[in-house]
Amino acid sequence: MKKIHALVLPFPAQGHVIPLMKLSNYLSEHGFKITFVNTDSNHETVVASLPKQSNSKENGIRLVSIPDGRDPGANERDFAHLLDSISASMPNYLEVLIREINESSDDDDKITCVIADENMGWAVKVAKKMKIPAAAFWTASVWLRTVHLHLEQMIETGILDSEEGKSKKHFTVISGFYDKFYLKFLKLPDSLTGVPTQQQMMQFSPDMPAMNTDLFPWTLTGDSILQKSFFRSIRSNTQDIRDANWFLCNSVYELEKPNFPLNKNLLPVGPLLLAADQQAQLSGNFLAEDSTCLSWLDQQPARSVIYLAFGSSTILDKHQFHEIALGLEHTGQPFLWAVRPNLTDIDAYPDGFQARLANRSRIVGWAPQQKVLAHKSIACFVTHCGWNSTMEGVAMGVPFLCWPYFVDQFLNRSYICDIWKVGLQLNKNEGGIIPKEEFINKVKALLADEMIRARALELQDISNKSVVEGGTSMTNLTNFIESIKCKLK
Ligand code: UDP
Repeated sequence: MKKIHALVLPFPAQGHVIPLMKLSNYLSEHGFKITFVNTDSNHETVVASLPKQSNSKENGIRLVSIPDGRDPGANERDFAHLLDSISASMPNYLEVLIREINESSDDDDKITCVIADENMGWAVKVAKKMKIPAAAFWTASVWLRTVHLHLEQMIETGILDSEEGKSKKHFTVISGFYDKFYLKFLKLPDSLTGVPTQQQMMQFSPDMPAMNTDLFPWTLTGDSILQKSFFRSIRSNTQDIRDANWFLCNSVYELEKPNFPLNKNLLPVGPLLLAADQQAQLSGNFLAEDSTCLSWLDQQPARSVIYLAFGSSTILDKHQFHEIALGLEHTGQPFLWAVRPNLTDIDAYPDGFQARLANRSRIVGWAPQQKVLAHKSIACFVTHCGWNSTMEGVAMGVPFLCWPYFVDQFLNRSYICDIWKVGLQLNKNEGGIIPKEEFINKVKALLADEMIRARALELQDISNKSVVEGGTSMTNLTNFIESIKCKLK
């Protein structure tokens, strides 16, 4: 039988490349040939951070790249420019790449399937134009996907403006059906930001949690130009994915159940984790992992270490970083802190901090996060609530201390603290800072909370069961593979 050759295309950000690489590793172990397409700049960082022994050819994954269309020298952090240039130029670059691969290959080696990040939804259109079956892969919570699927209806009914997706505040409906779909407005004291004001809450079905309309992720970018590009890109990608043959996501059915009736044909296959044979795997990291912290963790007592990591994009100002460092010092607990080179200012540590705490801490640039979270010495996870970090923490049964930074991280925080009840939230003071006292008190409260610990272990059990033979995610993944094979027969 013809070998399946999948072209996998992630959105060019760390939290997208990692889960699509995990899926690619899995598919490659199950006989697929994978061409993994990064943008040129990310390709270089992924290749540079591969461990020396990695051999992408051996494990059936070929790393290639195409341009993202930005001008040379463009500001790396100008996401609005990135979003606009992706949609303007990448469809063409992708089409050319697929043609080149197919024209230079014999029949058995042509691209037979495209697996595109839903944030690159236009790639489904490219695949369809070229008569190649396509799968769309969603990397965030299904809750967020539910929100995106209702965008056009929210615009039509006047809940959102069409340019920036800002919610309008003039509704007289307090609760009930609103025009075309179920919508419930609740004027409730805000439980999400701690601000004691009345907020407009809405639900997409009676079974789903109410969400604060101020927390729509595209409104949490802090920049109106970016907000417009972001909203435009979400709307067009959400339209473009509709013709995909399969829809997959990195979630667990049992954890997001009420969303699935609103996400027809979506197959949850998460949590996508490292497989047992990690040597053969490619990670997709943009920074090289510092694994020296693992032997240090081996020496720490069980459930004693505070692990702090804020993903790939969070920035902490010097004052905030300083305050958390002092908070960590005063907890008296050992800690492991992932401090990316661009997380904060180079001189943000309190005087003498690292020397004073050398015996009870490790600071690394990029941690082997899944191995860290799986380590028995970890007591809790201080996180920015990125979806991958959320899934990884759940899968390892670790209690969370939440500090969302932007976009969908506030929604993920709601899951962790309000719905799953496996963590606590760090609250800012009036000056917009999380003071050291808040940090110390919440760490103490979290470590003493047996209910949270028990819930975290329950969720771990649920997520573990989903990825073993017969579990929901494993069954979906197996059916997906079988379905591709059938289509290509
Ligand atoms: N990560 C890691 N080491 C670190 C920090 C993060 O391996 O020191 C990984 C983490 O395991 C996760 C990804 O980077 O898979 C971050 O994705 P997430 O969605 O949590 O956050 P984002 O970077 O998208 O904000």
